[in-house]
Amino acid sequence: MKLMEYQGKELFRRVGIPTPRGVHATTVQDAAAFIAQNPGSWVVKSQVMMGGRGKAGGIKFANDVAQGESVARELIGKILKNDQNPAGEQVKSLLVEEKVQIASEAYVSITIDRAAKKPAIIVTSQGGMDVEEVAAHDPSAISTYWVDPAIGFQPFEARRLAFAAKLPAGYHKAFPKIVGGLYTLFMDYGANLVEINPLVLTKTGEVIASDAKVELDDNAIYKHPELGAWRNDGPADEDQAAAVAIGLGMSNYAKLDGDIGVIANGAGLGMGTMDAIRNAGGSAANFLDIGGGAQAELVKKSYALVTSDPKVRAMFINIFGGITRGDQVAQGIVEALQGGDLREVPLVVRLTGTNEKEGREILAAAGMHPVETMDEGARRAVELAKG
Ligand code: GDP
Ligand code: MN
Repeated sequence: MKLMEYQGKELFRRVGIPTPRGVHATTVQDAAAFIAQNPGSWVVKSQVMMGGRGKAGGIKFANDVAQGESVARELIGKILKNDQNPAGEQVKSLLVEEKVQIASEAYVSITIDRAAKKPAIIVTSQGGMDVEEVAAHDPSAISTYWVDPAIGFQPFEARRLAFAAKLPAGYHKAFPKIVGGLYTLFMDYGANLVEINPLVLTKTGEVIASDAKVELDDNAIYKHPELGAWRNDGPADEDQAAAVAIGLGMSNYAKLDGDIGVIANGAGLGMGTMDAIRNAGGSAANFLDIGGGAQAELVKKSYALVTSDPKVRAMFINIFGGITRGDQVAQGIVEALQGGDLREVPLVVRLTGTNEKEGREILAAAGMHPVETMDEGARRAVELAKG
C-alpha cells in the first residue's frame, strides 16, 4: 500500500521527523481559506501516487490568497503525466505547505535489500533528483549502510553515513534523529520503503523532510488498523472496502450466494468451513477471515458486517484457538455479541483450544449453539438456516 505525501508526513510526525507546517485540502476553497488565515509563502503540492510531480507541473508556489486560489484551481482535477506514467494520474487533493528556503537538498531512504536480507539505509547529498539517476551517473555519491536487524539502528552509524555521503555540515546534528525516526517508522509500520527526497537543509539551518514517500507491506497493516482507511489504490469493490473499513485486509471478506454467514480465523480454515457446509447440503452466504487476534471489538464488527448481508439466515463462527484459551474466546464472543444493535440470527460456534469444554459451556449458557467439530457445526448451521 502506497501512501500519499500528506499521509507519509503524518507518519513522519509520529516518529519525530520535522515536516513543514501545512494542511491537506480537498477543495480549492479549503486551500484558499488556509492561506487567507496564514499569510506567507506557500507551496501547493498535488497529492498523487506517482513520483516526479515537480517535473510534471504538479508543484506550484503561492505568495498570497489570490495566487493560492488560482494554483489550487489549476491543480485540482488536473491529470499529471510524465515518462513513467504516460496515462497520468488525476489530482484529487492538495497539500498546502509553508515554503521552505532551500540551502541544500539531500536524499535518505530505507528499503529491504533482498540479497542481503537486511534493511538498507541509503544516503546521498544529491537530493531532489531520482536516486536511480544519481546511481547511474555518480555511484560514488551514494552511501549505504545495512542494518543488522538483531542490533537495530545505531545513531553513530547515521553520523558515519552523513560523513560518507558528504552531507553539508548543517545536516550533521539533526541527521541521526531523523534516520532513527525513519528506521522506527520502517520497522513499526512494516514498510517496504520509506524515502525523504529532498531532505532539506534550510537557509536558517533547520533540517526538514520536504517530501515523503512511504510504501507499507499489505501484510503488516494489521499492526496499525487505522491505516486501512488510508488506502489510495482503492478497494476494487464494496466488499473489499467493507473489510478495510473494519481494519481487515482487502481480501478478508468475500460475498457468496448461499444463506450461511461464515467467520473463521485463517483463510484455510475458512475454505474448510465452506466445504463442510457444502457437504452438509448448504451453502455459504459469505466468508470473513477474522485473522489472528479475534478480540471482542473485531468479533463484533465482523459479525455486524457478515449479518448485514440480508441473505444470511444462520451464522457459523469457526475459531481455531490453538494455545488461545477456549473459555476466553467464548467469553469474548458472548461479550461482543451481547446487546447492542446486532441482528439476531441463529449462531453456531465451533472452537478448539485449551479449555474448549469450558468455552462451550459459556456459549451454551448464552443461547448460542456450541459444537465440537466442523462437520457437526456445518450440519447445525444448515438446519438452522432452513428452520
Ligand atoms: P516530487 O517531484 O514528486 O518528488 O515532489 P517534491 O516534493 O520532491 O518537490 C519537487 C521539487 O520542488 C523539490 O525537489 C524542490 O526543488 C521543489 N520544492 C518543493 N517544496 C519546496 C519548498 O518548500 N521550497 C522550495 N524552494 N522548493 C520546493
Ligand atoms: Mn520528491
